[in-house]
Amino acid sequence: MSEDVENFDNPLPVRSPSGETVTVSAMSRPILFAPHNDDETLFASFLCLRHRPVVVVCYRSKVQEANGITADERQAETSCAVAHLGVPAWHQWPWHDSELNADGIEGNMWGMLDPMSDDKPLVFAPAWHAKGHPQHNLVADLADMVFGKEHVIHYTTYLLGGPRHVAKEVIFDPAWIAPKLSALACYRSQTERGPNRMWLDFGLREYVT
Ligand SMILES: [Zn+2]
Repeated sequence: MSEDVENFDNPLPVRSPSGETVTVSAMSRPILFAPHNDDETLFASFLCLRHRPVVVVCYRSKVQEANGITADERQAETSCAVAHLGVPAWHQWPWHDSELNADGIEGNMWGMLDPMSDDKPLVFAPAWHAKGHPQHNLVADLADMVFGKEHVIHYTTYLLGGPRHVAKEVIFDPAWIAPKLSALACYRSQTERGPNRMWLDFGLREYVT
């Protein structure tokens, strides 16, 4: 586990877009899991704008350090982005994206449930794809296991080395296009130095399975 990022238990303390740490009961809000910094914006901006979930970014950026892009930089970009998406708070989990790590993410997910209650929050998680990113697929499987498939809505992401996976389009309010563009614009590390070819293929539409 990284030492420079706190790891939180239930109830879920989260970092608000303005920077302070607040405590939000996981039961009182929908939760949206993004495997990496930017998945919430690329693939689920409209879900954020409609449902106002607490956003949880499961992995901390490590792989892109090879491109000179630091975890702190990407985390700051997420803070910028979610402020445009109207979410009440967001949370960065500490596990590096250089490893598949399942135990920590699963443990934190279980910690978001009230052990004294059968109530489950509405959850948004990536869709599992046969040729999907292994970490997207893992978060998809863990969300189904912990929260129960009937409580999880899966948003589609992309196939490794291939096109975006599309399914049922998320109906959006035209007024949400501008905040999505503003949120996307926060991720300058990705558009200017990162794997921006993939970014160019995504478009603004969003899909759920
Ligand atoms: Zn991702």
